[in-house]
Amino acid sequence: MAFHTAPVAPPGTPRTRRTVLKAAGLAALTATAAAVTAAPALAEDARPSEPYDVIVIGAGFAGVTAARAVRAQGLRVLLLEARDRIGGRTWTGTFAGEQVEMGGAWVHPVHPRVWHEIHSRGIPLVADDTPPDRLILPSATTGAYAPYDPATAGTRLGELLTDYFAGSETYFPSPHDPLLRADLLAEPDRLTLRDRLLQLRLSPQDEAWLAGHTATAGGSNTRGAYTALVRQLALSGDLATYNGLNTYRPVTGMTGLLTAMLADQPVTLRLASPVTTVTDTGTHVQVDVRGGRRHTARAVVVAVPANVWHTIAFRPGLPAEFTSASTAGIAVPHAKKIWMKVRGDVGRFLAQGAETGSPLIGVVPHTALADGSRLMIGFSLDPALDPAAVPQVQAALRQFVPQATVEAVRAQDWGNDPYARGGWSFMRPLQLTRQLRTLQQPHGRLVFAGSDIAAGWSGFVEGAIESGAHAARLALETATRTPARRRLLTA
Ligand SMILES: Cc1cc2nc3c(=O)[nH]c(=O)nc-3n(C[C@H](O)[C@H](O)[C@H](O)COP(=O)(O)OP(=O)(O)OC[C@H]3O[C@@H](n4cnc5c(N)ncnc54)[C@H](O)[C@@H]3O)c2cc1C
Repeated sequence: MAFHTAPVAPPGTPRTRRTVLKAAGLAALTATAAAVTAAPALAEDARPSEPYDVIVIGAGFAGVTAARAVRAQGLRVLLLEARDRIGGRTWTGTFAGEQVEMGGAWVHPVHPRVWHEIHSRGIPLVADDTPPDRLILPSATTGAYAPYDPATAGTRLGELLTDYFAGSETYFPSPHDPLLRADLLAEPDRLTLRDRLLQLRLSPQDEAWLAGHTATAGGSNTRGAYTALVRQLALSGDLATYNGLNTYRPVTGMTGLLTAMLADQPVTLRLASPVTTVTDTGTHVQVDVRGGRRHTARAVVVAVPANVWHTIAFRPGLPAEFTSASTAGIAVPHAKKIWMKVRGDVGRFLAQGAETGSPLIGVVPHTALADGSRLMIGFSLDPALDPAAVPQVQAALRQFVPQATVEAVRAQDWGNDPYARGGWSFMRPLQLTRQLRTLQQPHGRLVFAGSDIAAGWSGFVEGAIESGAHAARLALETATRTPARRRLLTA
């Protein structure tokens, strides 16, 4: 995830908020989504439960996709979710009377699976493509932040990104198969985002501008892998698309979209069911939930974030790649998303913080409210910032706009969330070339899923859907491995 300074809408897609909201069916869709979201369990499979064919752990986009795909094949599936809601790192709520996304929000036509889910249901889109009136960036001459003309500064940032990616064009010739040219990745996959910045020998101002962008994407420049950002560019196809990724939202919110996807099949869902232990006996899998309840299945899809794997006891233990990926983390630590109600006419500014010393690494303008205030979205990677403390958030915002007054906040601290332990996925050096292949393979009767380990759009909802569908195929193979069962299913 990175917010971008120059949104560019692809041709043929709706462009204004007003136009898009006028699309038919809006009221019906939002009402349906709200009603279904409120239900504690969305649907119950009428047939006898245990043992299930497949248990899916985690009801984010990956887990729901996997559960739905397994159920669509006529198998019995149980979906276990730790929280009292579905959605994981997506979560639609309200703030200051407006619909807000506390996690993943934006979709794009280059995300074919999520785009299909939205369009096949006739869900209208909201386009967040009104350009900012100014870009606020670090100034090397004053040492403080200064406003810049968006067109001029956006052009310079584009040039810097072009230089940053120069030479990487051959790394991902087929971006959804990221290890196709693993031979070319051995050296670049060792580089951090910072290593690549140093290679460019930039002026202090260029360095400050580019380093803020790359740090936002990777959690920090010393943590994120250069290849992880190159993957995003390769998947985007060009820089204009890469810069326009954060443009469209489904009008139902991400929770409404996922609720509709789950309603496609009668999946048995149990909320408030944190899994503590997963035991693969060789013939089936026992899944223990906090509080003592045990469920069994022939195969299990583990669709919880990679950063959470090490909090679950797997018996027998997992291969070293899983332990290493989970303890180092694939999702960025300390990620926070903060909705701010800002008083007064601060305009539609977009701010990008410096790599260090900026509690808010980025601020994106949002809705202008009837009372004259404005909603803005802040992103933070600073472990010291309390995102719920209005004075702290206001002080951070005032680095960019000294007269800004924050009236209220609603924030989600994903790094401190026990069922996320991080924000958007962004691999560290060598996780791609040394770990990803193993993480995508079945391990006994277990298959792992999630945006963190997607082949394509890792770090996006699209990657979660892709990975969930892939895991479902593998789990179906495992669950139907006995000859008798195979005959039954193919009869
Ligand atoms: C701040 C932020 C902004 C983002 N912006 C965008 C964006 O604009 N566009 C985009 O496409 N993507 C964005 N992303 C990324 C996107 O949200 C994620 O890639 C995607 O939602 C991950 O889905 P998932 O199913 O892989 O994992 P998750 O959504 O994390 O789902 C995993 C599920 O497992 C559950 N779980 C965890 N532990 C247990 C347990 N022990 N037992 C049972 N259940 C458990 C969790 O509660 C959760 O529901 C953003 C992410 C963040 C944090």
